Amino acid sequence: MKQKKRSFLFDRMLGKLCVKMRLVGYDAALNPEGESGRFLLNAAKEGRCAVTRARNMGDRPGPKPVILISDDVNEQIVELFAATGDTPGFEPFTRCLECNALLIEEPEEAVKGEVPPHVEKSFHRFHRCPSCRRIYWEGSHFQAMSKEIKEIAAKLKRR
Ligand SMILES: [Zn+2]
Repeated sequence: MKQKKRSFLFDRMLGKLCVKMRLVGYDAALNPEGESGRFLLNAAKEGRCAVTRARNMGDRPGPKPVILISDDVNEQIVELFAATGDTPGFEPFTRCLECNALLIEEPEEAVKGEVPPHVEKSFHRFHRCPSCRRIYWEGSHFQAMSKEIKEIAAKLKRR
């Protein structure tokens, strides 16, 4: 059976990592502003794995968070999977980077006029966020991302 993918709650200093985890297809939420005192509680309430770089966070009552050391985003992803022991299940471009919602595939006709003409001409697969309506396509960014994912996977194997 396919393992259910873990979902995460990141503390506010890990905003970049949070977006990157959405980019590779993980349910990743950022702790709301002004709620740092409730960080672990929020994670527990939503059944999310809490992730922080604040060492003292581990001393608080509640489920233990994953505490990362690196300040490099890709290194942090490696650390995160090493800490949870999960096999990474990367599914790029399945979630909105802005709001974490699951994207829906859109036929080319449906995005006509909403994307720049050169994009309309060069790309044929589109996804839309049902929440903020943003449209995604597999441009050069996608290729760069695929390369990065391979590098992360290779680093994990070497650990
Ligand atoms: Zn969105």
